[in-house]
Amino acid sequence: MAKSENSGKGFSTRAIHHAYDPYAGHGALNPPLYLSSTYTFPTVEDGAARFAGEQAGFVYSRVGNPTTALLEERIANLEGGEAALVTASGMGATTSLLWTLLQPGDEVIADKTLYGCTFGFFNHGLAKFGVKITHVDLTAPANLAAAIGPATKVVFFESPANPNMRLVDIAAIADLARRHGAKVVVDNTYCTPYLQRPLELGADYVVHSATKYLGGHGDLIAGAIVGPKESLDQVRFYGIKDMTGAVLSSQDAFLVLRGIKTLALRMQRHSENAQGIAERLVGHAKVEVCHYPGLPSFPQHELAKRQMKLPGGMLAFELKGGIEAGRRFMNRLRLITRAVSLGDAESLAQHPASMTHSFYTPEERQAHMISEGLVRISAGLEDLADLLEDIDQALAGA
Ligand code: PLP
Repeated sequence: MAKSENSGKGFSTRAIHHAYDPYAGHGALNPPLYLSSTYTFPTVEDGAARFAGEQAGFVYSRVGNPTTALLEERIANLEGGEAALVTASGMGATTSLLWTLLQPGDEVIADKTLYGCTFGFFNHGLAKFGVKITHVDLTAPANLAAAIGPATKVVFFESPANPNMRLVDIAAIADLARRHGAKVVVDNTYCTPYLQRPLELGADYVVHSATKYLGGHGDLIAGAIVGPKESLDQVRFYGIKDMTGAVLSSQDAFLVLRGIKTLALRMQRHSENAQGIAERLVGHAKVEVCHYPGLPSFPQHELAKRQMKLPGGMLAFELKGGIEAGRRFMNRLRLITRAVSLGDAESLAQHPASMTHSFYTPEERQAHMISEGLVRISAGLEDLADLLEDIDQALAGA
């Protein structure tokens, strides 16, 4: 479908058709997979013009490839952004963007809860190169107002945050940051553009681990950045080309394009299953607390209704009995699979203190609101009754 024919079309229509014409070329229904590291120039003058950015066309796949370019157009369209850039991983997206935006002396204000490797990149990576990292509880915008200053160049957060599900009011934070000249980067991995579109709420950039819901089948590692075209050109030509080299392969781009076609359907089912599991857990005699935006007892339930289309497929809960009860529950699971990652067809459970957040010190986990007994569940696409049966039997022995 030509890009111009798209306006006004629904999310799934654009997820399936945007920017590809199946009648062009050989008439292939699916877009071609271009396996080429380099591209030819008709003349040396054409080569010079392409290098100078004066002639459209590809040069070398570290900078661009027709299959990844189509994925970029589709993701930008679905997120409501001017441009997108796909990367070799979610970490490749965050690192390529921030290495481009920041310089020594700048400050990043990040939420207290972050995916573990993002925390590692900030505190063990960026901090080594003269960037100040300040962690602030961004669930209350007043905390940002108190902390932000002239050196603050980036405000970074996830919503819901991995793994404890705290939400951040994207519009309120973006408004405050803009007034102080800082750019807002939202990791939208948990929601995908089907559930939440941070750019429409005022954020400057969105990053994704496309490994998760966008790919949707647990068979690839990929990432994406969405934002203003001029700035993403800088990320493409400096951040990725010269600094991280975090280039997505065209095969994986093809798989993400395939995954995105069913994104809306999958997100609806993930949400239904997560809601069903959360309702089974909340109030259970063995469960201290269940964190899920779709529960009326969730402290930010109203914010969730305002900024998310559905409460999503992720939930977390704390068992009475702390770390030992958490380990017993994990080891008794039969259908729900013990694994990190999320957003796959298979339901997955992980214990952050043993797994994704194990390289935090216990004090760091406490300071960043990740309790030792927290269990995270990525609700898959299986039949809810089977998932509930597994939850019931695992809780019985926890
Ligand atoms: N952001 C979030 C919220 C994640 O959960 C993850 C991975 O689990 C990442 C970023 C990193 O993505 P990747 O594993 O694709 O590098």
